[in-house]
Amino acid sequence: GARNYSFMIRTKNPFGKVPNRLYLVMDDLADQFGSGTLRLTTRQTFQLHGILKKNLKTVMGTIIENMGSTLGACGDLNRNVLAPAAPFTRKDYVFAQQTAENIATLLTPQSGFYFDMWVNGEKITLEDPPEVVKARNDNSHGTNFPDSPEPIYGTQFLPRKFKIAVTVPTDNSVDIFTNDIGAVVISDDNGEPQGFNLYVGGGMGRTHRVETTFPRLSTPLGYVPKEDILYAIKAIVVTQRDNGRRDDRKYSRMKYLVDSWGIEKFRGVVEQSYGKKFEPIRELPQWEFKSYLGWQKQGDGSWFYGLHVDSGRIGGKMKKALREVIEKYNLNVRLTPNQNLILCDIRNAWKRPISKVLAQGGFLEPKFVDSLNITAMACPALPLCPLAITEAERGIPDILKRVRAVFEKVGLKYNESVVIRVTGCPNGCARPYMAELGLVGDGPNSYQIWLGGTPNQTTLARTFMNKVKIQELEKVFEPLFYYWKRKRQAKESFGEFTNRIGFEDLQNWVDKWD
Ligand code: SF4
Repeated sequence: GARNYSFMIRTKNPFGKVPNRLYLVMDDLADQFGSGTLRLTTRQTFQLHGILKKNLKTVMGTIIENMGSTLGACGDLNRNVLAPAAPFTRKDYVFAQQTAENIATLLTPQSGFYFDMWVNGEKITLEDPPEVVKARNDNSHGTNFPDSPEPIYGTQFLPRKFKIAVTVPTDNSVDIFTNDIGAVVISDDNGEPQGFNLYVGGGMGRTHRVETTFPRLSTPLGYVPKEDILYAIKAIVVTQRDNGRRDDRKYSRMKYLVDSWGIEKFRGVVEQSYGKKFEPIRELPQWEFKSYLGWQKQGDGSWFYGLHVDSGRIGGKMKKALREVIEKYNLNVRLTPNQNLILCDIRNAWKRPISKVLAQGGFLEPKFVDSLNITAMACPALPLCPLAITEAERGIPDILKRVRAVFEKVGLKYNESVVIRVTGCPNGCARPYMAELGLVGDGPNSYQIWLGGTPNQTTLARTFMNKVKIQELEKVFEPLFYYWKRKRQAKESFGEFTNRIGFEDLQNWVDKWD
């Protein structure tokens, strides 16, 4: 008979929001049509693997009907919009999440094409908020294709995928600087949101041995009052649409446009479409990584419980236990950009029974999870990703154990940690170029080693070594961690340490080690 290809589906969940019913549907679909496991991604979405072509329509239709769109999950357009997953009721958190949702709606494809394909032409209309519709259709600066069903994208869409994150000051749970656009809510002294700092031109992907491709942190663009945010975002997207390179996909992300023009010129061109000048960027406090694991108060009398999920994969008895509590207590769910999961809206009296079921299902209490695991990430790589050169997700548990063993050997205590990220190719889906120790597949069973990211994800790592065989990683880890233990300044993180010492000395230590 006809060949039955297997497909992968990604959902779209701004700020990782997963309503109760959608979670239950995804859980069912994974069993009925997928590989029997749910996988959480680094962009706060689900991925279902192993969907057979004959079932694609049913699966996509079921997701859309249950309020979990797949529109814009793939392709050269805006991807899932990140924002902090925590269900805090604090005004700036709620505003960041609402804004993420509005931006996602603004940049969702409008044409029937996507719908027709998956639900037999029956258009499932979700009412878009009027302010979003107004911003999308606004052509006062000549930026739209007014006669196209896609007023922003036209027929050509964008040169390449486009990534946006929104957050609040200090909360860098979203890796804000790795996105094409980062927006940070600025509030007044009473905690009332007033506007946004905008950053542009971040991105991770690169190509091995092509020095003109590189990961890049975003650059400050300016401040916009809150009522202008959708117009400012649209002006940036339109600037990339009209000027981003379309002749070579290696250089088509907006970071290359920002880099080649410089931020002054880029800002000037965006301001033409925006119709206003950007205000100076507002000063911000230090960033922190937030994992949201364990029990925390939402601020409305309820609790949330953040659960660590290794490589974002939920299967077997863990999947069953999760389903049991989510179904029984009617819980809403959030997915974090670190591939973890948050159970929301938990009453005080439910805490104990929920903890019990989850513990029986094999979930460790977050305080018992190795700190290396908490910040570690790996992309799916082999056997799932066609671009993979080598292992990532399947290899990372062993790599983390080996790092922990080296820590013990050189006398680093159990509470010490470094941010480790592993990918199977230079595309960098698990953001390895922000890690303190990044491993990027560069051959069968071999990795490029990147050093110099920091625990709060504000510094870009740099290439330290190439083609290190997986079985020889200790030859690099041992000297680095030995000297970190002995020569670090008080509380100096591994990333800060490697940057202070410099790669030349580090390389000498590695070369002389035996
Ligand atoms: Fe695939 Fe490369 Fe992304 Fe890993 S980093 S998922 S191997 S494209």
